[in-house]
Amino acid sequence: MSKANNPLNDPSRRSAETQLVHGGTHRTNFNETSDALFLNSGYSYPSSEHAERLFKGEIPGGHNYSRFANPTVDVFQTRMALLERAEAGKAFASGMAAVSNAVMSQVKAGDHIVASRALFGGCRYVVEDFMPRWGVTSTLVDGRDPENFARAMQPNTKVVFIETPTNPTLELVDIKAVADIAHAHGAVLIVDNVFATALYQKPLELGADLVTYSATKHIDGQGRVLGGVVLGSKALIEGEVHTLLRQTGSTLSAFNAWVLLKGLETFPLRVRAMTESAAKITDVLASHPKVGRVIYPHHTSHPQYDLAKRQMRTGSTLVALDLKGGQEAAFKLCDSLSVILISNNLGDARSLITHPRTTTHQRLTEDVRLETGVTPGLVRLSVGLEASDDLITDLLYGLDQI
Ligand SMILES: *Cc1c(COP(=O)(O)O)cnc(C)c1O
Repeated sequence: MSKANNPLNDPSRRSAETQLVHGGTHRTNFNETSDALFLNSGYSYPSSEHAERLFKGEIPGGHNYSRFANPTVDVFQTRMALLERAEAGKAFASGMAAVSNAVMSQVKAGDHIVASRALFGGCRYVVEDFMPRWGVTSTLVDGRDPENFARAMQPNTKVVFIETPTNPTLELVDIKAVADIAHAHGAVLIVDNVFATALYQKPLELGADLVTYSATKHIDGQGRVLGGVVLGSKALIEGEVHTLLRQTGSTLSAFNAWVLLKGLETFPLRVRAMTESAAKITDVLASHPKVGRVIYPHHTSHPQYDLAKRQMRTGSTLVALDLKGGQEAAFKLCDSLSVILISNNLGDARSLITHPRTTTHQRLTEDVRLETGVTPGLVRLSVGLEASDDLITDLLYGLDQI
C-alpha cells in the first residue's frame, strides 16, 4: 500500500487538533468511523489457560473487568495523553475522583502535603479535612509567592498540590518555580489544570509530575457528563494511580468516556472561540464605571501579568469581576441577564455566571474568603460559545441595572 511511508503514520508528527479526532482510535471488525461504545462490564476468555495468563499480566492490553479496563475508556485515556504529551493517563468518574486519587496515591500516614490555599472547594476539603483524618498533615500557603512553598516544606512532605489559575479569583502559581522546590525536597508536584486547559498551559513541560482535569468542564464542555483524568509518567500512572483506581473503583463509565471523546473532537475549536470572547469582554468591562476590578490573566492589569504571559498561551475562558456595589450589585447583575445563565459550572458552551461568596465558597469563613479575594462584589464568568456581541450587550444591560 502506498501509505506505508506516510510521515503522519507516526502519531508524534500529528498536531493536537488531529490527535483529538483520531488519537488512540481502536476500530472493531465493522470498521466504524466514530469510536465504538463498549458498554460491557466483563469479558469472556477462550480457555482457562488464557484467563490464567491474562490475570498474571502476561497478555499486554488484555481486558478482564471494566472497573479498570474498558476499550472505550482506553481510547479516551490515550487521546488525553496525546493531547497532554504525557506518557500515560487514567480516567475517573469525576474531576474530584481524579484529584483525590492523584493526591492519595502518593501519600501514606505520617506524610505531609503542601498546597496553595486558593483551591477549588472539593480539592481544599480533601487536603485540609480528609487527609489529616488519615494521618497526612497539610499546610496551605498563599500560592502567589513560590517562597511560601519553600518555607512550608518539611522532611516528610511528599506532595505539593496547586491549581493555577485559581478558582474564582484567577491568581497564578509559578509552576516551574514550585516544581523546582518540590523536587529539591523529593516531593511530587500535582497541578490541577482545569482553568487554563490542556490547550493553553502544559504543566508537565514546566516540571509537574501529575496533571489533573475535571473533564466535566471544557472537555465535555456541553453540560452532559462528569469525568476526570490524571496524566503523567508511565511509572506514576501505571503504578500507584492505577492500583488505587483498580482497587477502589472510582472508574469512568464507558458511556461517559464515549461522550467525552465526542467532546474532544471539538475541544480546540470551542476553547479557542470562548477564549477570544473572554478577552473581548475583558477589554470592554475593564473601564466600566460599575466595575472595581476585572481579573483576566492576559490583561495588562493582572497583578501577575508577566507570569501569565510566560506560562499560559492565552488568558483562557474565565473572567472575574469585582463590582464596586458589593453583593447587592452582584445579585442585580446576575438577575438582569438574559443569555448568560446563573450556574456554578464552567467551561460550558453556555455562558455561566456565579457569585462565589454565596454559592461555591459559602462553606468557608469570611476571613478565609477575603484572604483568597472572594469579596462580596466578586462574580465569576465562564464565557461560552454565544456571539460575543450578545454577551457584551447582556453584561452592559446588567451593569446598567445596578
Ligand atoms: C470542577 C473542578 C474540579 C472538580 O471536578 P468535578 O468533575 O466537578 O468533580 C476540580 N478542580 C477544578 C479547578 C474544577 O473546576
